[in-house]
Amino acid sequence: MPKIFIVEDEPSMRLGLKDNLEFEGYEVDFADNGEAGLEGIRTNQYDLVILDVMLPKMSGFDVCKTVRKEGNTTPIILLTAKGEEIDKVLGLELGADDYVTKPFSLRELLARIKAVIRRTGALKKGTNKAKIGRIDLDFSSYNAEESGHEISMSHKEFEILHYLWENKNKTVSRDELLKNIWGQEVYTTTRTVDNFILKLRQKVEADSNNPKLILTVHGIGYKLVINAE
Ligand code: CA
Repeated sequence: MPKIFIVEDEPSMRLGLKDNLEFEGYEVDFADNGEAGLEGIRTNQYDLVILDVMLPKMSGFDVCKTVRKEGNTTPIILLTAKGEEIDKVLGLELGADDYVTKPFSLRELLARIKAVIRRTGALKKGTNKAKIGRIDLDFSSYNAEESGHEISMSHKEFEILHYLWENKNKTVSRDELLKNIWGQEVYTTTRTVDNFILKLRQKVEADSNNPKLILTVHGIGYKLVINAE
């Protein structure tokens, strides 16, 4: 039974989520402030954390940033307020796996929860290790290194690279990436895919303006080129 940790300071929201998630068959723990949330994530093995951004004592962003800095890869869905467009992006930059904007429907949140648990599970089951250019990757521990130095990458960046790796030397369309990496996220467009590819190139290519690994296939999508050695 997947174990979910809810970090939310509004009692009605917290209890509503707890009841509904338990009804869906999840085991649920909760905390009502950021510090307790951080401690809970550090000391337990959760399958997923639902983390509110506006929290007493420590914000959800800071909790997220701190656990990722400590190398903890527990999947995190951020609960953001309406209009926090920049914050959403920032949340993913900080290492969150997804976000849901308040007010949300329970059905939407449940779909996201299932998708995140499925995706993070797939990452652990498929090919675990890869070498892309100068970068050594371990997909199961979300670890990327270049000559022994750690490179910081978001979970989304790992998921995209993993998908390209599993389909290496084949053209992957933007829509295919959207469907497999973002799933049901409504606000994502193919533009988002392009932005993530730009960021990935800055990390894996020797010269990101002249990519040799992640190539653009005009009008379709991208291709990760790995030459057999
Ligand atoms: Ca709150």
